[in-house]
Amino acid sequence: MTMRANLHDFRPILSKALDGCDWWGIREYRETTQFRMARNGQNAKNETSFDHGVMVEAMVAGKIGYGATNELTSDGIERACQKAKTNAHLSALSSLFTFDPSIRPKAVGNYHSKFEKPLEELAPGLVQERLMKTTKMMAADEAVIEASAYVMITETQINYLSSNGSDWSQTFHMVTKDLSATAKKGEITQNRSLGMQGRQWGAESLEESQLLKESERIVREVHQLLVADDCPTEKMDMILSPDQLYLQVHESIGHPLELDRILGDERNYAGWSFVGPEDFGSLRYGPDILNVTFDPGLPGEMASYQFDDNGVPATKEFLIENGILKNGIGGIESQKRSGLGGVSCARATSWNRPAIDRMGNINIEPGESSMDDMIKSTENGVLMQTNRSWSIDDYRNKFQFGCEYGHLIKDGEIKGVVKNPNYRSSTVPFWNSLSHVGNGETFEIWGSPYCGKGEPNQVIRVGHAIPTCKFENIEVFGGA
Ligand SMILES: [Zn+2]
Repeated sequence: MTMRANLHDFRPILSKALDGCDWWGIREYRETTQFRMARNGQNAKNETSFDHGVMVEAMVAGKIGYGATNELTSDGIERACQKAKTNAHLSALSSLFTFDPSIRPKAVGNYHSKFEKPLEELAPGLVQERLMKTTKMMAADEAVIEASAYVMITETQINYLSSNGSDWSQTFHMVTKDLSATAKKGEITQNRSLGMQGRQWGAESLEESQLLKESERIVREVHQLLVADDCPTEKMDMILSPDQLYLQVHESIGHPLELDRILGDERNYAGWSFVGPEDFGSLRYGPDILNVTFDPGLPGEMASYQFDDNGVPATKEFLIENGILKNGIGGIESQKRSGLGGVSCARATSWNRPAIDRMGNINIEPGESSMDDMIKSTENGVLMQTNRSWSIDDYRNKFQFGCEYGHLIKDGEIKGVVKNPNYRSSTVPFWNSLSHVGNGETFEIWGSPYCGKGEPNQVIRVGHAIPTCKFENIEVFGGA
């Protein structure tokens, strides 16, 4: 019997236990995660974890109460129902906002992430063997003092039923990978990596030939860094590759636009935002060429889905359109509370957490510029690749980022490699210094499974599909 059928089997218990509620819903969450790691040709980690449970939501007098359990029996479900009902009554005593059942619209459908080759093709041990082989190859280089490879394979199924007829199911197959080599020459130590890349993917993401090709490039580039000059310290133009720009978007566009931050919910833990409710519709976040979307429909991005965890159908929406701030990253509850426009982004990290405002896929729409246009138009600049470090204040305003790998650009031509490239700025001036948005040829899908937020903490997967972009007159510095 499938788990789907099991959830349906619980409907009589739910109907009876939650009789008298204005609305109820149940979300089942089932996830298997494999962690594989190799270091210097040796096995370093080989673990599998499994998580399975349900969250019951009950609405009484406009208040939602939650009850979660991983005891998937009639008794367990009934206790979760009683807890949800009791919590809904209790929350009426310190009410923040009165909702109605329209915050849980009826939704019916199925979603399955796209892939070329099923993950089942990766027989147990095969991934480990490939990671050991890849790191052995990198570690064989005379300058490499440590080579590591990391893969996380996640299969998640979410099933949902509600009293108003919702009945949906979503299945996600995701792979996150990274390869890294640290090399030393005299007093100089440098690191080059693939950059953490998470996507909805199948077995095609872990082809041996591709892993070996990527590790050859990493070793070649770490050698370049060992003999490279330090990045200059001066105001200059800067071209950022998608493997750095995705984190820049995440930290300085994604987080400050979260409506629960703007409402103050996250102030104690994840921080607040420099964006205020009055900024929507008027704040010039960037020039006309900056278009930022919430796009749950791009195949392969880590947070592509059909419904958010409140069952609200997910559609592509502009957050920033022609440079002007339009919508926040807030699900239906935050939209009602704030009166601001939002997106279908309420998600829970597992069965034992309520859905909160999360980033989903936050993308920069491709522009018109080719890589060649961006380089040729640069008199004095630097091209930076792959994030190495980052820091941003609680309001998501002032920041500093460091990258692994840089190229100097002089008079429209790429010159030598530079090591330790960094830059600093503040969010709105930075995005307004954007001069070129790369075209589709520069557009890449990146993502991370490690966006943290919420109390109790919820670590969740986010996607960022990003073109290469150019910024003018940025404070660039070397060292560190
Ligand atoms: Zn984050």
